[in-house]
Amino acid sequence: MDKKNKIIIANWKMELGFKESLALALEMKNMFSGFSKGGVVICPDFISLSEVGKELTGSIIKLGAQDVFWEEKGAYTGEVSSSELEEVGCEYVIIGHSERRGYLKEDYSLINKELKNLLKESKLIPILCIGEKKESRESGKVEEVLSEQLRQALEGVSIKDDSQIIVAYEPLWAIGSGLVIKPEDMNEVNKIIVQSLSNIFNNKIAENNFLRIYGGSVNSGNVKDFAQIEGLDGLLVGGASLNSDEFYKMADKILI
Ligand code: PEP
Repeated sequence: MDKKNKIIIANWKMELGFKESLALALEMKNMFSGFSKGGVVICPDFISLSEVGKELTGSIIKLGAQDVFWEEKGAYTGEVSSSELEEVGCEYVIIGHSERRGYLKEDYSLINKELKNLLKESKLIPILCIGEKKESRESGKVEEVLSEQLRQALEGVSIKDDSQIIVAYEPLWAIGSGLVIKPEDMNEVNKIIVQSLSNIFNNKIAENNFLRIYGGSVNSGNVKDFAQIEGLDGLLVGGASLNSDEFYKMADKILI
């Protein structure tokens, strides 16, 4: 991961079947051939990772997973390890997405275990999701919520010189809702994240080892507003990443 380059990450969630994932990956591979800006990552579901990984050989598009377990092997029914993800070509992995926090009750102590294991056992770049609920924003608790989520997620995590973590700020009220954060509020959140990371580690680590990206209802129509936000290193995109034209337009506008 290059600090100078911005990144755009597609989260396909459970929106596509296996064949549909392969077809969309191929479409994107073709569309992005000749594209040379920034980082482009797609995160299909677990079932599709291996074949999509093969499809992406020779493409600038990188592969990411949507989740990972905190142990490498053992009696953990239904789970997938970081070494398996690397085996099929993943370079990135989303952890603690709000849908998992909501539907599967994942909390930040569990996310902390995933993060520690990832940094210790793999070269995968974690995409750590944080974000407040609507009520917290309305009651002025954004700073409290985000700094606490980061504190719990990063507690006891040791950062090496070459460790890279992407913090994805995804306010719950913006995901899939059509509502996006205002640029001035995003600036505020950026400051909160940098300050929290500096408190947990130090200024140097906050600056060198972390990228900060936004996710929540971004599409080709509103992406230009995000391209101008200083200190924002990219985007995590759900719905609008399921259409190759749309995703290409967004990548073209946000990446430099
Ligand atoms: C997401 O769920 O990570 C996301 C950003 O979704 P959407 O773009 O659909 O709001």
